[in-house]
Order: sequence, then C-alpha cells, then structure tokens
Amino acid sequence: MTKPPSVPERRLQLETLAVHGAHADIEGAVATPIFQTSTYRTHDRRDLSYDAVRYSRLSNGPNHLILQGRLALLTGTEATLVCASGMAAISASLITLVAPGERIFFQRGLYGGTQMLAAQDLPRFGIGCDIAQSDDVATWRAVIQPGTRVIYVEAMANPLVTIIDLAAVVALAREIGALAVIDATFASPINLRPATLGFDLEVHSATKYLNGHSDVIAGVVAGRGELVKRILTTQNHLGGCLDPHACFLLERGLKTLPLRVRQQNANALALATFLAAHPVVTRVHYPGLNPARFVPAAVRDAFHGYGGVLSFEVSAALAAQLLGRLELAVHAPSLGGPETLVTRPATTSHLGLSVAERAAIGIHDGVVRVACGIEAAADIIADFAQALTPG
Ligand SMILES: *Cc1c(COP(=O)(O)O)cnc(C)c1O
Repeated sequence: MTKPPSVPERRLQLETLAVHGAHADIEGAVATPIFQTSTYRTHDRRDLSYDAVRYSRLSNGPNHLILQGRLALLTGTEATLVCASGMAAISASLITLVAPGERIFFQRGLYGGTQMLAAQDLPRFGIGCDIAQSDDVATWRAVIQPGTRVIYVEAMANPLVTIIDLAAVVALAREIGALAVIDATFASPINLRPATLGFDLEVHSATKYLNGHSDVIAGVVAGRGELVKRILTTQNHLGGCLDPHACFLLERGLKTLPLRVRQQNANALALATFLAAHPVVTRVHYPGLNPARFVPAAVRDAFHGYGGVLSFEVSAALAAQLLGRLELAVHAPSLGGPETLVTRPATTSHLGLSVAERAAIGIHDGVVRVACGIEAAADIIADFAQALTPG
C-alpha cells in the first residue's frame, strides 16, 4: 500500500512511468537502493499502533512502497500490494474477499495452482468453489449460485490463449453484487489494463512478464484501495511478503516491461504466422492471428497486444520429438522471460487429466505451448522450422 500517485504522473505514458513512476529521491540514488533491513527505528513514540510500525513483513519499507507506487501507475489502479509469489497474491486475495459460507465462481481452464486452491484449500475454509462449464459468459447467469461473492477469471486462459467476454463478466458481477477479479498475468499492463473494464481487483504472477527475467518469484495485487488494504492485512498475518531484494529486482525488471512485452507480442505473432502456414501444423491458437474472430467484440479495443504465449497442434509423436530437437527454445514451464520456453501441456500443466478429459477442453496430446522470449523472431522461427522438418 502506498499513497495514491499524483495527477501529473497519471498523465505520463506507460514507457515513462515504468522508468520514473513513484521514484523517491534517496541520497540522490538514481536506482532505488536495497533496504536490506527487517525493521526500522520508531520515530513517533506517541503512536505505537500496529499500522505505524515499519517492518519488512508489513510491506512498508521503501522498496515496497516505491515498487507498489510504480505498479499502481502502470496498472492504473488505486493501490497495489507486492507478494511472495503469484499464488500468495491469489490466495491472500480470495481468503480476504470471501467468508465461510460464501462462494466463488471461476472461469474454466484456470492456471493449475489456482485450480488446486479452488479444489483443495478454499473448501476447507468453508468457501464454495464453482467452475464454469462454458466460456460463454451469457450462460453463467443461470448457473451462478446464491451467495457468490467473487467472479474470478483470467485475461487469457492457458494454453489455448482463450479470451472470454471480460466486459460481460464485470456486468454480471455488478448485477449479482459480486466482485470481479481477474488474473491478468498473461496480458501484463502493456496489453490490458483490467481496471479500465471495471474490474475491482487484478492479480498477477510477477514471476512472468512484470519481472521478465526468469529469476524472481513474485506476485502483485492491484485494484480498489479499500480491497487492497484488506488484503494487505491478511498478508501481514499470513506472512507471504516479498523481500526487499526481490522488490529491487522486480522494480528493475519493470523499467523494460513495455519494450519486452512489445517484442514478445511481435515474436509470437511472427511465429504464429509461420506455424499457421506450415504443412505439418494442424492448428495454431493465437488471438493476434485474427482478433476479429478470436476476441469478443466488447473487449477488442481494451487489448493492445496478445502477449508472447501461443500454442499449436501437430501429431502427438511429432510433439514429443519436437521438444528434443529445438536448439534455442528451452523445454521449461513458465513464460514472460527473455528466453523462448516450450512445453507440452499433456505432459505438464494438464498431466492430471485423462486423455478424454483433456480432449474435452481441446488439449490434445499434440498441443505444444510456446512462450516467446525477446530473441530475434527470425532465429526462433528458424529453430522451429528445423525442429519440424521430418527426418
Ligand atoms: C505462474 C502463474 C501463476 C502463479 O504464479 P507464481 O508466481 O508461480 O506463484 C498464477 N497465474 C498464472 C496465469 C500464472 O501463469
């Protein structure tokens, strides 16, 4: 939590805010120094309330406050909170916003960690978790149960990069008196600012695009100030804070966020275009190939790009061979870093499902997911071209 950014800062563009936003002058240092301290001297001895204590678990050191201020500017939200991981951000948020006896309605095809949280952990706190059976938001009204306090969706669902009608999600949440919460990890604030669509809260795995260097695990909560403040209190109790050194790394990563994400958008579009024309590739999933077809009209203007993740389908045998033949792209989970990463969902994120269950949600054994990095697109395309050549 930090003080709201000033009005002039709000008028600057994202490229500028990523570098200068919420900067504080500390001994003239151009880069924010790391405050590697657990605790701080108490200056005002008359006020010893818990809130007045400065202690690194409370996310109120200079590294936290500057970083949270910058993230508020980038996301265009009232307040933000940095967390130890994306899952720390998601779990602290949901535990805070929903009480025992109340319910959460989730989009289907969720990130695996969130899916497990909904299946195994939240029910133990008496929180009912329902998962949509369809991506058509118009069908949700009829199945949402009374007592639903949160509708939870993802900006782009993995691995088929599905974009649902996010504007309809917000409208439905308003109608039933629920909060609209979105995991915007796959979009990053460069491609989508969910607050402009009216989302009450967004969560990010900052491990991905926001940090962007495959070297930090971190999470972010951003949204309405009153909600973020309540989630901060929960995080203070659960203890899932981000340490000052990780704050420094994340702040450093943010400075190049616009540059990196634009390169990743361009690389993914170039690779998707190449794959779509390749004779052994049967399907390519990337909304940027044809936004008029794959992005609901109500949210098309809200997206400024479609990110670095795409997936494509080949025979299961070729998919298995492909991962061993790639020379530049790395066989590893995650996304948003400088390196292009490749996985087979059937053997990683969706391993827990049967072949039939996977097929029912469109994840055949020949699906390959690519998370584009920031390399030269031509080099990555050449790598896939040689790996797809039979022989
Ligand atoms: C990686 C990821 C998470 C979890 O983030 P961690 O930082 O690994 O805890 C949540 N949601 C999405 C969409 C992700 O890609």
